[in-house]
Amino acid sequence: MTELPSFDLTGQVALVTGASSGIGRHFALLLAAAGAKVALAARRVERLAEAAREIEAAGGQCWPIVGDVTRSDSVAAAVAEAEAKLGSLTILVNNAGVVVAKPVLQHTEEEWDFVLDTNLKGAWLMAREFAQHLVDRQRPGRIVNIASVLGVRTIASLPSYTAAKAGLIHLTHVLAMELARHGILVNALAPGYVETDFNREFFRSEAGKKLEARIPLRRIGRPDDLDGAMLLLASPAGAYITGAVIAVDGGHGVAPI
Ligand code: NDP
Repeated sequence: MTELPSFDLTGQVALVTGASSGIGRHFALLLAAAGAKVALAARRVERLAEAAREIEAAGGQCWPIVGDVTRSDSVAAAVAEAEAKLGSLTILVNNAGVVVAKPVLQHTEEEWDFVLDTNLKGAWLMAREFAQHLVDRQRPGRIVNIASVLGVRTIASLPSYTAAKAGLIHLTHVLAMELARHGILVNALAPGYVETDFNREFFRSEAGKKLEARIPLRRIGRPDDLDGAMLLLASPAGAYITGAVIAVDGGHGVAPI
């Protein structure tokens, strides 16, 4: 019989940014269920504590860390705290993200910086700190960047967000190329629309319903639609995948505009 691929994360230590809500919180639960110890990083203390309680109640091991991905001192402190509490890290999920929905001509410089600093600079700061952590310990690891279908498609009124996600996709390629020699695999998961706090209001609106009708699989995604791709990129099953961008979008990326 052929041996089936392993998605087991026993012995791994993951750090998930933006784990206080939505997709990040879901990923933290998923990785813990697959056997990893998980550090949950975000800014809202109460929401992190809630997520940590949920993981522990399900039998997982985790540690909440209050941190801001846009600040290098906070990023360094988060990696150090995660190691002190859970052991050397082996998986980073760059999931923290924010969005400002405004047309180009109304977008302010502050809004541009806020979105780029969180979605792109934050992911780079985390990846750099995490990669240095692994290189210093001569250990292999995985980075999964949460991009978006909007990193490759255009849409009105999200100039900073689409630019940040496009940048994150190309950063994924460059990190994969540079870090391969250290055994660090870097990939991106590009979700389509997934209902979370980020967009719940929008999907209740007329415009949201019209958008849903244009998705080839005719529904908005759920966080658990991303589980297979995330486990593949984090686990032994994905050992020969680096520099890839995996779309999980119900076909949105190939739909006519
Ligand atoms: P949420 O708003 O629910 O989650 C965003 C998370 O990012 C929160 O946990 C927030 O935590 C955290 N965060 C924001 N700024 C910072 C910061 N400076 N430092 C640390 N953490 C931060 O959104 P989603 O779960 O929907 O989005 C998660 C990711 O998935 C984002 O990168 C988003 O772009 C991406 N995505 C989402 C899609 C969707 O349809 N929902 C589609 C495609 C991609 P806190 O406020 O506590 O810091």
